[in-house]
Amino acid sequence: MKEIEKQIATPNTFFNNYRKVSDSIEAAKSDKPKNQRTCRFCGSKNETNYRTKAHIIPELLGAHNHLSDSECDLCNRIFAEHENHLANFYGPFNSLLGIRTKKKVPVFKSRNEQYCTSISVKNENGTPRIFFGDNLNDFKFDNDRKRLTINFKKKSFIPVAVYKSFLKMAISICPDDSLIHFESLIKWLMDVKSKHPANQFPFLLYRTRLTKMKFDKPFATLYFPSITSNTNPNFSRLATIVVHAGISVFQTFFLIDENLEIDTKDEIPFYKYPAYVHDIKTPDNCEKFEVPINSLSKLKQIILNGDKKVDYDDELIHLSFKKVRRSKDIE
Ligand SMILES: [Zn+2]
Repeated sequence: MKEIEKQIATPNTFFNNYRKVSDSIEAAKSDKPKNQRTCRFCGSKNETNYRTKAHIIPELLGAHNHLSDSECDLCNRIFAEHENHLANFYGPFNSLLGIRTKKKVPVFKSRNEQYCTSISVKNENGTPRIFFGDNLNDFKFDNDRKRLTINFKKKSFIPVAVYKSFLKMAISICPDDSLIHFESLIKWLMDVKSKHPANQFPFLLYRTRLTKMKFDKPFATLYFPSITSNTNPNFSRLATIVVHAGISVFQTFFLIDENLEIDTKDEIPFYKYPAYVHDIKTPDNCEKFEVPINSLSKLKQIILNGDKKVDYDDELIHLSFKKVRRSKDIE
């Protein structure tokens, strides 16, 4: 167990420092009639501005019916633009796993590159069909290990738009009486011209890709710092959201006080949510057991600062297979 503790935070590190404020399921229970609604982003109280369904978690992470009663149609359209970037950033997972977004499983198409065909993934009845065309650059085929490794090139995305999509989820989940903590961030989210004043603050995203567990419907949980003996002055200013979708667990952090400036003299404590525990099967009747470190899901750290389109963070995915058939055999 020592070995793991050295490399990964134990579940206690996170849960001793954070308390759950609410989650996407609880937040969806609020269902005010249209004439009593107030948009928590722009303040609109006009009931004719609540015609479309606003989802607490964008459906591009998986279909669900957790609706928000505090997001007007206008703001919903603004966030849809950010969410196009989140979709590009998210990549091929729905198509590979057969997860519906609205009514059907989307088709994934990789970014166009000059000298090769883009790879596409179409899911047919739970089986992903992957088309390479003449593209021999983006996949490796290992017949001995029965393994296919594919490099899925994602379409370009704007990092800060991805960060804003997670921020919108956090604000949608936040209970009314805690919303005051997001006031400055709501202003920043809604004002296209304004820069985040805390330009030293890293928009850090942790992504864990699970290997043994899959969430067909996404869900998100918002955490606030709990009262502990933590003496770092930056600690009490950070909220965190954890979003489960498919085989991915995302976590990002927000500054939740009026003043968005941050002094980087003091370390910014980013406590990792222990997403890897989803991949550990606890033996029955056992108080202590060892987990081989190599078997744990991998955590990736991505920085989402930047308002220009980028091409990066491609997904390298290993697929195992039993048998290979040429397309001639399939037809
Ligand atoms: Zn609004």
